[in-house]
Amino acid sequence: MPTVPHVINGQRRIGTGVTPIYDPATGAVTRYAPVPDDALVNEVVTLARTAWQDWRHSTLSQRTNILFTLRHLIVQHGDELAEIITSEHGKTVADAKGEVARGLENVEYACGLTEHLKGQFSSQVADGVDVHSVREPVGVLAAITPFNFPIMVPLWMTANALATGNAVILKPSERDPSVSVMIAELLHDAGLPDGVFNVLHGDATTVNRLLEHPGIDAVSFVGSTPVARHVYQVGTASGKRVQALGGAKNHMVVLPDADLDIAADAAINAGYGSAGERCMAISVVVAVGDVADPLIEKISQRLDRLTVGPGADPASDFGPVISAAHRDRIISYVTSAPADGITVVRDGTTLRIGDGFFVGPSLLDGVRPGVKAYDDEIFGPVLGVTRVASFDDAVALVNANPYGNGTAIFTRDGNAARLYARRVSVGMIGINVPIPVPVASYSFGGWKDSLFGHAHIYGPEGFAFYTRAKVITTRWPQPSESQIDLGFPTTR
Ligand code: NAD
Repeated sequence: MPTVPHVINGQRRIGTGVTPIYDPATGAVTRYAPVPDDALVNEVVTLARTAWQDWRHSTLSQRTNILFTLRHLIVQHGDELAEIITSEHGKTVADAKGEVARGLENVEYACGLTEHLKGQFSSQVADGVDVHSVREPVGVLAAITPFNFPIMVPLWMTANALATGNAVILKPSERDPSVSVMIAELLHDAGLPDGVFNVLHGDATTVNRLLEHPGIDAVSFVGSTPVARHVYQVGTASGKRVQALGGAKNHMVVLPDADLDIAADAAINAGYGSAGERCMAISVVVAVGDVADPLIEKISQRLDRLTVGPGADPASDFGPVISAAHRDRIISYVTSAPADGITVVRDGTTLRIGDGFFVGPSLLDGVRPGVKAYDDEIFGPVLGVTRVASFDDAVALVNANPYGNGTAIFTRDGNAARLYARRVSVGMIGINVPIPVPVASYSFGGWKDSLFGHAHIYGPEGFAFYTRAKVITTRWPQPSESQIDLGFPTTR
């Protein structure tokens, strides 16, 4: 059984396979991922620090050239990248191609680094004194990523971290790590010097070693909320800057004036796409006033038309979930729902396709705070409906939720939509857009338990996170200006 190699200092390094990697469509183990010992973690950090010493002084045109070439290579190899993702994650090939495209956006944004890295200059802030600012790289970044977007999330971090002159150690999810190896090889082919980007596989022990390692300067983490909280606490206690993006419970509010066909389409796409394994998936539809019954009817009609099957089959609308344990956990929320007073409108738990990790779509009516199916992030193809009386009740429900990643509102009323966007404590809001993942020239991030640390990821906030500010105050005095003055310098 093959073991996925690390990529260290530009070379593949084979370790002992420890963690099984499955093809979720068949349930078969296809390869293993290694878990490095402390000596290997130390070696990679040392190599990355050494490579950074040159890379931090690379010219902006050299970096731009490499990123442009990377963009070209990702486009050229897009189909292959998508197939690797499908074989380990299980999502449909079309969905994997969408992920590649959204990751590519970040490379394209980073290609504009000469513009994004411009400093500022103020002439004559005091007599004969000028001030200018520059941003310098932070150092070595540990990029720790989840299973559900195995290329997009690494590119959220990598493109901007390299553009700003940092070295990167990517610790991908141990459940679908192979595409990371290809990213490393494409970066190598694009001309990135050895050691500037490394892929180190591993598990929680590897993450903890990196978090405490004195040779790591910054940590970008994306994953579940309990781990994000831990990563933030341990990383900052070790003196690093950390951005740790966590889980979600995204609400889609449907007002009585909404077009219910459009809203039902959106609920299907955002609730069941990628088997619900998206951090921006809609997991709760908040039906305001009397829209619940007709909306549930329209969602049910659409569920009849969904096909669940292997991600490699073009007929599949969504594929399996990531593991047998995750499938069983998802199923438990549906089977326990009636005991919590929830109506199971559609039960997808009995679907079986060979030994694959499949779960059919489920629809629950009556989820509400205080029951597991509402309180927990299910991260599967289970959509809940909550009934509320008014717009204000909808806002209160969303704001009382501990997560604040994304939310959407469906309405024809521009003022209601505007008020919603202003009142909710959520980082990303869609108005008649169910999955409002910002384009790469904006930054991505949630509020509350969906993000620990202040910096959103990618876009302008990504450039800020991966750099430190330096401000230089300059004066070129004439010999005639020589004088002793112990007063605090002022600009007046
Ligand atoms: P996860 O938290 O289990 O794993 C994420 C990473 O952390 C992996 O690399 C893993 O090896 C590591 N890890 C796991 N347990 C750890 C521990 N105890 N200590 C240290 N490191 C540990 O997440 P996942 O299941 O791979 O991904 C799904 C989760 O990620 C969902 O909660 C989803 O909402 C979230 N997510 C959030 C965003 C976002 O942008 N907010 C994006 C994608 C996914």
